[in-house]
Amino acid sequence: MTSEKASRSYLTSVFNCRCPRCREGKLFQYPARPFRFKRSMQMNKNCTVCNQVTELEVGFYYGTSFVSYTLGILISVFSLILWFITVGISINDNRFFYWLAANSILLLLIQPWIMQLSRSFWISWFVKYDPNWKTNKPKDFLERQNSEQANNW
Ligand SMILES: [Zn+2]
Repeated sequence: MTSEKASRSYLTSVFNCRCPRCREGKLFQYPARPFRFKRSMQMNKNCTVCNQVTELEVGFYYGTSFVSYTLGILISVFSLILWFITVGISINDNRFFYWLAANSILLLLIQPWIMQLSRSFWISWFVKYDPNWKTNKPKDFLERQNSEQANNW
């Protein structure tokens, strides 16, 4: 049995929304586009490369709201610092409120990307990289799934 070195690092695989088990197959059917919420969230049922299941159990992605919230805060802090450096903030004018408006629009536009990234992070904490993914079979999650409740979260 030959174990292969991962083609992508952990973070590259997460940010590219790749299957955490083989780091090759794509998790999502479509790339994230602004205002395409439903289409952006359509996942491949199984990894197209190693057959890893993407929805491990009913409501598996329920907890991603915490991840996307954290990502939203991080992006807002980053954009505030960037605004402070480039535009500046003062109590004598409305520059802070302009940042507030600009940041809200930014968050709205990149929301599908944040949602995909949250799911990518989430599944990477439950499915580990398998160096022998070509010869090993993925773990079976069939008994924990319910197709009627799939994608309800
Ligand atoms: Zn895979």
